[in-house]
Amino acid sequence: MDLHNKHILVVGLGRSGISAAKFLVSRGCTVTAADNRAQEALGDALAEIQHSGISIHLGPHDTEIFENCDLIVVSPGVPHTIPPLARAREKGIPVIGEIELAYHFINIPIIAVTGTNGKSTTTLLISEMLNQSGFKALSGGNLGTPLIELLDQQKTADFIVAEISSFQLDTIDQFRPLVSIILNITDDHLDRYPDFEAYARSKARIFKNQRACDVCVLNEADATLLSVSEHLTARRFLFNSRQFNENRSWISGQTIWFYMPDAGEQHVDAADTALAGRHNLENIAAAGLAVLAVGGTIAGIQASLKKFKGLPHRMQYVGSVNNVRFYDDSKATNVDAVDRALESFSGSVILIMGGRDKGGGYERLRPRMAGRVKQLIVLGEAAEKIAAAFADRVPTVMVSDMDQAVKTAASFSVPGDCVLLSPACSSFDMYDSYAHRGADFARCVESLEKGNS
Ligand code: ADP
Repeated sequence: MDLHNKHILVVGLGRSGISAAKFLVSRGCTVTAADNRAQEALGDALAEIQHSGISIHLGPHDTEIFENCDLIVVSPGVPHTIPPLARAREKGIPVIGEIELAYHFINIPIIAVTGTNGKSTTTLLISEMLNQSGFKALSGGNLGTPLIELLDQQKTADFIVAEISSFQLDTIDQFRPLVSIILNITDDHLDRYPDFEAYARSKARIFKNQRACDVCVLNEADATLLSVSEHLTARRFLFNSRQFNENRSWISGQTIWFYMPDAGEQHVDAADTALAGRHNLENIAAAGLAVLAVGGTIAGIQASLKKFKGLPHRMQYVGSVNNVRFYDDSKATNVDAVDRALESFSGSVILIMGGRDKGGGYERLRPRMAGRVKQLIVLGEAAEKIAAAFADRVPTVMVSDMDQAVKTAASFSVPGDCVLLSPACSSFDMYDSYAHRGADFARCVESLEKGNS
């Protein structure tokens, strides 16, 4: 990509926007940055670029700057369909994301992970499996470090493992991973996509530039995935956690069988892993297939399962009070993640749900709820919508904050129960992030523990 003497507009000053702007300045570009938030809302972010020669425009977008540049780099938080971007495209100005920009400067193979759920867990699992197989892997993307920040380290690494969200896939152009993975596609982000099909198409962009020598790892039990990958060019490596099919990887109990066209069957035992639930066995199957496809070893995969402890706020055990165990699954911001969390528990669960609604329905949880949830506690903007979906099936109470949610959960519990925060909603009605919400839940559990001791 020729950046020489180019005037580039960066839209959205989140972490990846800031990194992209700094990178472009370092390459000698003239950079303008725009964010429709006010200075106070951006906090410390601005300090990083304030004295670097970047012209910064805050507040409502000035459409003129969108039409007077050679290239626009847009952040995943900014819908790529907003009118000033649409007009710039009409005028022939390319609009890309930070992933695409970074891609043009990456010279080691990329393993790219997408899906509605499990991306972060799988991305880190792959890195660990590669490292345990004797390679050096860097990880980033939607998870933590923007890819553009990894460029300096690639000289000493073998692979980049990138978590890529659908919003990031919307603004790729030539991005072509050696291995792509789509873990699953279920309802999410319907507040930003016109419908489920549009969201699924966006996920499928991950393999749009792949060639016959590349690999795509897919979950065969997900019908949406099979339909969006019908015209896939890359070699397809499938796994299935629901049924055994010839020449597929599959999961039997806690054993994961990998089927590789050239190497036949090999397996790992996941009985000792800290990752609970069938969904995590799927993540391990997908990660292992990707790693085997690029020369990793079964021994490396097995060793990584012992080492990898999982991520915070994903069904994380945070404490016990009166023999009732409390779990923080604040990252479960959609219905399928809640369904999978409930599937992972065998006893009765007191479930805390709610937050900001993302435009889908909650009814799909009804069958699982009936068998497993003895009490539902709802809070946040979506409380009434969620209560309306389940109140005829599960005893439901509405509360106003997390403190009340945890205390109410404790009051309904008996020894042996579990309390699970698994919201099915985003956190932005009450918190800055899912991590902030999870930390508040843990704080409330801790104060319950203290009050009890
Ligand atoms: P993502 O990065 O896609 O949000 P995470 O690994 O952070 O994925 O997990 C987010 C939520 O999804 C957590 O609640 C986790 O328990 C759940 N989850 C993880 N893997 C899967 C999967 N394969 N299918 C469904 N839910 C999953």
